[in-house]
Amino acid sequence: ADEDDHLDYLFKLVIVGDSGVGKTSLLLRYVDQVFSETFISTIGVDFKIRTVVINGKRIKLQIWDTAGQERFKHIVSTFYRNANSVILVYDVTDSDTYLSVQHKWLSDVNNYAGNKVRRVLVGNKCDLASSRQVPVESGKAFAESVGMMHIETSAKTAENLDKLFVDLVVDLMEVF
Ligand code: GDP
Ligand code: MG
Repeated sequence: ADEDDHLDYLFKLVIVGDSGVGKTSLLLRYVDQVFSETFISTIGVDFKIRTVVINGKRIKLQIWDTAGQERFKHIVSTFYRNANSVILVYDVTDSDTYLSVQHKWLSDVNNYAGNKVRRVLVGNKCDLASSRQVPVESGKAFAESVGMMHIETSAKTAENLDKLFVDLVVDLMEVF
């Protein structure tokens, strides 16, 4: 293969969380640099790929979205298979979605993902400051109590999007 094609790492990341928290928006913003105000019911594919260079290493990220399944039932367990990381997303303007992460999504991850999986808690829509329901300190404290990283993002403004993935990839390169 061409020297430029070499890869140091390939990581599978999966994004979970309640419908409407912005999972698809985060994926489209990060991979395609676009944002839409309308609900994106499906992106038509199961995952998107982005290749990044971090600390001199070439890393291919295969990032899985739920294709709307979260509206009907728990995500099937095979979704979590071989995931290096699970990104658990809530909406900082909707405390129900934050409770869901704690009571539903995290237990699914703990039941179905491998024991080395790295979990990241993401509070999305941090641009909507005036509607905030979940304080940043709550998210931080909860994540810390279960050994997860925590960050707040906006798929709309792209705030902290690169930081989310860089911090995650640096962590993954140490573990895998
Ligand atoms: P999903 O069901 O979790 O995939 O959520 P979507 O990505 O479809 O987003 C649901 C709605 O929230 C859409 O109207 C998006 O435009 C909106 N949305 C997603 N992320 C953000 C964000 O960071 N800020 C704001 N203001 N709106 C967002
Ligand atoms: Mg979606």
